[in-house]
Amino acid sequence: MGSSTAVSATGLVKRYGTQESAVTVLNAVDISAKKGTFTVIMGPSGSGKSSLLHCIAGLDRVDEGTIRLGDIELTALSEKELSIVRRDRIGFVFQSFNLLPTLTAEQNILLPLELGGIKPDRDWFDLVVTRLGLHDRLGHRPSQLSGGQQQRVACARALLTKPEVIFADEPTGNLDTRSGAEVLSFLRESVDSLGQTVVMVTHDPIAAARADQVLFLVDGAVVADVADPTADMLIDTLKKLETA
Ligand code: ADP
Ligand code: MG
Repeated sequence: MGSSTAVSATGLVKRYGTQESAVTVLNAVDISAKKGTFTVIMGPSGSGKSSLLHCIAGLDRVDEGTIRLGDIELTALSEKELSIVRRDRIGFVFQSFNLLPTLTAEQNILLPLELGGIKPDRDWFDLVVTRLGLHDRLGHRPSQLSGGQQQRVACARALLTKPEVIFADEPTGNLDTRSGAEVLSFLRESVDSLGQTVVMVTHDPIAAARADQVLFLVDGAVVADVADPTADMLIDTLKKLETA
């Protein structure tokens, strides 16, 4: 594996349930994302996108296969080691924002660092908060913010540890078109001008067209990939997969 790979997975198998009733939701999945790139995972509902993202982000375990984040083999870590890697080296953005309601925007953004006992880099904090247009919202609680603002707070929180990879599961799924476009533009910008690596799940071809590579998942297997996509290329691929 080259040093420019941020995250890679080989031969991933994930099953839910036990023995006779086990369902295989990931079936020999291989994926990799280079540092400083934006990867999207597309696929029909139930194809295993969230399962794949959660496994490669260390939020869930696989039954078979190897996952590497930089030079760390996630699949070889204990729960405790994995929780430290998640806290210090991985950023998450979920569809449902997952902010703590009693904390202000600023406190939410700083929480992962606080939990790790790490002093925030104030210049980085200011840069991220400014890029996200959150400066005048830092004292607000989530209930005082729009959905788009809440998701931008979640993006700032994900970025603050300068993670090796940001994983986002349908981050625009609960947002109106305009707020969704803002969040996407920020994720793109975090790759282009802040050097971050993003892996995002979406079923929206227009959102996915912002990526550098798009992987298509069907029934728990990667069945196609498209580099430097346009929305039309992605819509064509989806149509071909539907009729295949
Ligand atoms: P997607 O994100 O593409 O919609 P998921 O990864 O959420 O797909 O789900 C893939 C399959 O795994 C679905 O059939 C879903 O019902 C099943 N599944 C997901 N989570 C669980 C779970 N915790 N227990 C059992 N089955 C699950
Ligand atoms: Mg999902």
